[in-house]
Amino acid sequence: FFLSFEGGEGVGKSTQAALLGEWLHDALGREVVLTREPGGTTLGIELRNAVLHGEDVDPRTEALLYATDRAHHVYSLVRPALERGAVVITDRYLDSSVAYQGNGRDLGADEVEQLSLWATESLLPELTVLLDLDPLIGLTRLTGDPDRLERAGDEFHRRIRQAFLDRAAGDRDRWLVVDASRTVDEIQADIRRRVAEALGH
Ligand code: C5P
Repeated sequence: FFLSFEGGEGVGKSTQAALLGEWLHDALGREVVLTREPGGTTLGIELRNAVLHGEDVDPRTEALLYATDRAHHVYSLVRPALERGAVVITDRYLDSSVAYQGNGRDLGADEVEQLSLWATESLLPELTVLLDLDPLIGLTRLTGDPDRLERAGDEFHRRIRQAFLDRAAGDRDRWLVVDASRTVDEIQADIRRRVAEALGH
């Protein structure tokens, strides 16, 4: 079972992914692989560093770097885990590229999606959880050095939020939209309910 978490900055994706992983393992006895993009592999960590903290690059180069990270991630980690029956939970996947590079950087959602589908041989998650939150709240939750994207303007982040919501509205079978302004436990409960249903529990 392949599941992705999506959303803007500081919405709690990694917290919710980790809690879900613990529950799937401890309560349901599943093998769980928790991973992230960019940076789920050794090459991916180098690409993450290059794209977020390296020299400034144009939007097409940025899109190709994310697609490279994703191709290698799927080939070397995600598909092998799915083939052995593990649940793979990724913190960001192709929908982040569609939102950030497609809508945010104006490269076009369809083109960016096609690039990712090519990169992954069309591997889509069975479930995508969108943690939806006002970007002004999300950005204030972040700690540490801001990366290039976190320093982009409010308007950029509002566009990203809307892009995720529009995409989710177009495919309710794959997406679960969760109000991420609530408590960690409330959010987690909604996610577990939907995952249990999807796994037939
Ligand atoms: O969620 P995480 O902190 O790992 O994301 C790192 C940064 O990369 C974020 O600022 C996010 O907006 C950006 N990103 C992006 N395009 C992607 C994936 C992540 O701009 N496809």
